[in-house]
Amino acid sequence: MVKKIQQLNLPEVYPAILEDFNLNTCGDPDCGNFGVAPNFSIPVFKGRNASERKQVAAASIPALATGLGAYTMSSDDHNTRISEVFEYEGNPVGWDDGRTMECSHQRGNDVCGITFSILSNEHFLEEYTRLLLAGGCLEGPVCGACGARYLDNPDEFIFNGTHGKLVAGGNRRKAKPSGFRIIHRPCKGKAGARISVSLDHQAHQELRDNVRILRCIVNGDSITTMRRVLADPDTGKKIGVSRLYSRIFWLEKTLLAFERAKLKEWKQREDASGRFKHMRIAHDDVTISVNWESRLDRRLTPLQFSVSADIRSGYVFRIDANFDPNVDPVEFVEQHYLSDTGQLANLRQQYSQKSGITFTAPKMHFQRPSGRLDEPMLFASAEGRWRVFSERVQNAYEKSKGTGVALPPDVQEKLNEAEDKRFQLDQIRQGYFGFHDTDRDYRGSFNGSVVKPTYTKAAHLACLRDMLPKGKITLVGEQEAAMVRVVPHVFRDMINDDMFEWFVISFDKEVSAPKNKARMAQFAEALEAFKEKARATLGDDLSDRDLLEQFCTQRMSTAYIEGRNGTKYPYSIANFQSRQFPQIWIRTPAQYYGETQKVVGFPVLRKKYRDPLKKLAFDQKVHDPELRAALTRRALRATIQPVSTFMSSLRRRTSPSKRAGGKGARTGPAYINGAVFNPAVLMAFLNIFRVYYNWFEPRQYKGPGATSGSEAPVAEGLSAGRVPGTKETIEVPKLATTSPVMLTPAMRLGADPEKANGRPRKAPDPRRVLYRPWLYHGTPLWRKFED
Ligand SMILES: [Zn+2]
Ligand SMILES: [Zn+2]
Repeated sequence: MVKKIQQLNLPEVYPAILEDFNLNTCGDPDCGNFGVAPNFSIPVFKGRNASERKQVAAASIPALATGLGAYTMSSDDHNTRISEVFEYEGNPVGWDDGRTMECSHQRGNDVCGITFSILSNEHFLEEYTRLLLAGGCLEGPVCGACGARYLDNPDEFIFNGTHGKLVAGGNRRKAKPSGFRIIHRPCKGKAGARISVSLDHQAHQELRDNVRILRCIVNGDSITTMRRVLADPDTGKKIGVSRLYSRIFWLEKTLLAFERAKLKEWKQREDASGRFKHMRIAHDDVTISVNWESRLDRRLTPLQFSVSADIRSGYVFRIDANFDPNVDPVEFVEQHYLSDTGQLANLRQQYSQKSGITFTAPKMHFQRPSGRLDEPMLFASAEGRWRVFSERVQNAYEKSKGTGVALPPDVQEKLNEAEDKRFQLDQIRQGYFGFHDTDRDYRGSFNGSVVKPTYTKAAHLACLRDMLPKGKITLVGEQEAAMVRVVPHVFRDMINDDMFEWFVISFDKEVSAPKNKARMAQFAEALEAFKEKARATLGDDLSDRDLLEQFCTQRMSTAYIEGRNGTKYPYSIANFQSRQFPQIWIRTPAQYYGETQKVVGFPVLRKKYRDPLKKLAFDQKVHDPELRAALTRRALRATIQPVSTFMSSLRRRTSPSKRAGGKGARTGPAYINGAVFNPAVLMAFLNIFRVYYNWFEPRQYKGPGATSGSEAPVAEGLSAGRVPGTKETIEVPKLATTSPVMLTPAMRLGADPEKANGRPRKAPDPRRVLYRPWLYHGTPLWRKFED
């Protein structure tokens, strides 16, 4: 019989709250505990006459009656573990890795009852910072004494001379310093307070190569092709892979800094304009597989990317992978689970109860330093590195010296150490925390670790929220379980202000192209007939949009699944069946823009519509005409098309993101030859492609939420046609009546605004963008570098 660890209670395990963020509260916008942390001062009544005593006490403690701040906790029994090493040797204990909370706020005669798993706010913050600084590349100079970032508070830094000299020539009219020294004033005199800043590209020998690399990346060239393109024209000597990688990382950093500076300006302009801003954002999750680096192990690792794009302009705001390339698995595990003296650390959580009993228990995932990461993989990867090291050393000696020959003592010592480390890691991994085995033991020849998707999702959405101008946000996505856990918390303040809506759509993805076209044609035909009839009876002044809405409002229906015996089941997945969301999902008749047979759910919408909708059961018909019209309007604009468009362009144009096998994003991937990749490089590729797509490439854009004007009228006139076999031309009237309007998403968004000179709009020239100090935009350093 395995023993259980002591019972824990909520005050003992409740994670720390951030100043303005807390994932561990009720997620129902209509519950009094929405955003309210547990109140541990509420007395708990147990035993004889508990309810009577509670009623008496409720007279003086209002929270007892309302349940404000009242939660209960239970075990997360999906993750049972057994520890059988160290203090549990010969005496194993079982425990649950995680806890769930249940909201006990009063709701009528009942309690709220919304449950959720406990997460760590600190892990969220860590992930948020990672995404905000793009894995550190947008961090900028940091004071070596106290860690203050120059970009956070440039005013605290003073200039302290220059260094180096760039001679005049090229685009430079006069010589200028190559770098500047700054001092963090509060730390003046301390070691590290004086920092030297220069621009990375000044060390590049061939600046021209940078634009060529950029063009290669956005035109689908592989690393191999790039090395050939950049080879020395005289000797044919290819550029080294690591030098190429460092150029790619430089490009990513520069373009991200450029984009950040521009979007910041855009946000400031929008906020200052006083106009009401309503952003509609399409969000989707995309899986891209990375080949493992080793040639021996031809397997793929799927990485999950969160992508968010503006529906009106097609601007892709972010693409974030659930992968942290800055984590070295061996280093991470040793740093966090071993003390300086090699003693085990951070394994146990100490608890002391009011009765005076103190005890320890294995740390749960939201208490562990590695809880943000996919831990089984992290530990396996750390162990795998030691194993690869040992095998490599042994093989090398066996090959050159033959078997049976004693190894040099220092080598033997290292091998013994590797053996010890592996044993130690195994004890922590399986013996103590009970992480299950993984088939990825050998994987990990590059740095990094997979992050739990829930944290990446929350951080992605929080970063997105902070990038957008003040105003309303409508988020449209697909049914994702991770979203349910975090969306109400990330957008809590906006939900409270009634400035946030969240729709979830699903549509037929398996359909063949001809069938999809036929559906769209059928819809268009029915709509036209409806318009004709309506105009005949109601008059001509009805707009197309009004008639489209009317047509769809009349024909929308409640979506549910019908079993064989006629039983009805909710359309949504289990996570969306929580009572924090309206249960009604609707089937919209609109078949257009490639998304057909669409069903839309409304997890969060304006309070005015949310309240009546929440009162309906999942299979009820919506009768209220105003509510029906409101849902139709929303369903007509609910699309993830901007993300799909971006992704198909990405897959067509960049070689590493080509889908391996099958057309479905999640179907069995296969090894892609030539796409040897390090996730950090893949992530750089995607960011480079994204900024290029947003800023440098004009395209026509159409979509359900697109601003009108994807086409411009062509002035009537004549064009010349040559008579075959002669030099004679005749004039014929122009055929086309409209021409496509070619703009970049940044132009449509307004982030690349129209110049006053009225000349045709052109996308910026990358050569003029790449060498400016974008990272320091808006700080005194920007001016210093620019002058
Ligand atoms: Zn609640
Ligand atoms: Zn400092």
